[in-house]
Formats: sequence, structure tokens, C-alpha cells
Amino acid sequence: MAEESDSTFTETSSDGGTGTKAERLQHVAARAATCMACDLAATRTQVVFGDGNPEAPLMLVGEAPGMHEDATGKPFVGRAGVLLDACLRENGISRKHIYITNLVRCRPFTTESGAARNRPPTQEEINACRPWLEQTIDIIQPLVILCLGAPAANVLIHKGFKMSQERGQWFEGRYARYVAATWHPAYILRLQGDAYEAARRELVADIAAARQKVIEAKREPKLTLF
Ligand code: URA
Repeated sequence: MAEESDSTFTETSSDGGTGTKAERLQHVAARAATCMACDLAATRTQVVFGDGNPEAPLMLVGEAPGMHEDATGKPFVGRAGVLLDACLRENGISRKHIYITNLVRCRPFTTESGAARNRPPTQEEINACRPWLEQTIDIIQPLVILCLGAPAANVLIHKGFKMSQERGQWFEGRYARYVAATWHPAYILRLQGDAYEAARRELVADIAAARQKVIEAKREPKLTLF
């Protein structure tokens, strides 16, 4: 599914780097690794920048790293990641076909009775991390973005996104030719019985639709001359 590599070409970019997409991403990730733009810098083990194929036409954007991601430095490696990988696999997609990242790159958590519990990122944390997300998108230039959960959709589609009404709808976006949102796998894991099965089926179907949109977008003529 990944586009042919353009690694034989070098480019200059708004991130200030030159080289292939992989090299430019590495350059930005190295700068992000020392980011102090919000309070999460004080409690993170490491910045979880993103993972996958920098040439991928499909990007997935989740919410924030959890405990396992903070420990390993890779997005979606905990239970939610296992479910996501299974739903990708049902569509013949693996991590090497996509690029995956989050709205925020450091783990937000609270400590209750001595135990750390994941919490959603605050608006300040989302705003502080947005330049890293925007630079990532700018380098990868995905044709299609699939938001995992409403927080990513609020940023990449429109404010006040209603997952119950707008899930699976396609928007022609500022960040990619086509952008849509689907259930966050961590939300699906909190459901049970028929509700779990139904939401899981919808996640698989939304990934299938994203795959189809990539094929459509690749067939469309480029609208720019340069
Ligand atoms: N949930 C997310 O949104 N991102 C991760 O990387 C892991 C869990």
C-alpha cells in the first residue's frame, strides 16, 4: 500500500531539514526529544514521536501515549495497539504500510493512591504539541488521515466533532486530501458484548474505507503544477 520510495530525491522543507522524508522526520523527532513546551516534559520517560513508514499515504492519529508507549517510545504498543493492529491486519495492513502518531507526544497521567493513571491531554498540552504534529504531517504529506477518537478529529477535522454523528464521514481537509475519524481502540476496549463487537466491526470497516480512499486519491490528478 505504501507509495514507491522517493528516497533518491532530496528536498528542502518548512521543517528546515533537507533529505528524504525519513531523514527530515528524524531531524524533527530529535528536536522534539528535548521539548519543554508543556508540563508533561517533567514526568515523561521519553517523547513518543511516531512510528511507521514515512512514505505512507495513510496516517493514523491517536490521542496520547500511555504507560507502555512511554516506556518503549513507540505509539500504540499497549492493549489498544494490539486491538488496532488486529483491525489493520483484517484489512491486509501492517505498521509498515502506515505512519502512526498522536495528538500529544508525552504521556499525560495523574497519580491516585500512589498509582499512575492515564488521563486525557488538556487543551494546553494539545496546543503545545500541535507544532510537532503539524511538522510531521507536513513532511509525510499523507493522502488520507484517519483520526482515532474525537480529540484528534477536533484538531484535524473541525472543533466540536461529534463521533456518534460524524464517524466514518469523509472531509476534504487542510491536512490531507481526505480526513475521517473512527472509534479510538481504547474506547472499544471499554465496551462489552454486542456493543464491543459492533464498534470493533466499525473500526475494521472505517480502516477499509480509508484504504479505499487512498486508492481513490492516488488516481486523482494532482491539482498543483509544482
Ligand atoms: N492511545 C493513544 O491514543 N495513543 C497511543 O499511543 C496509545 C494509546
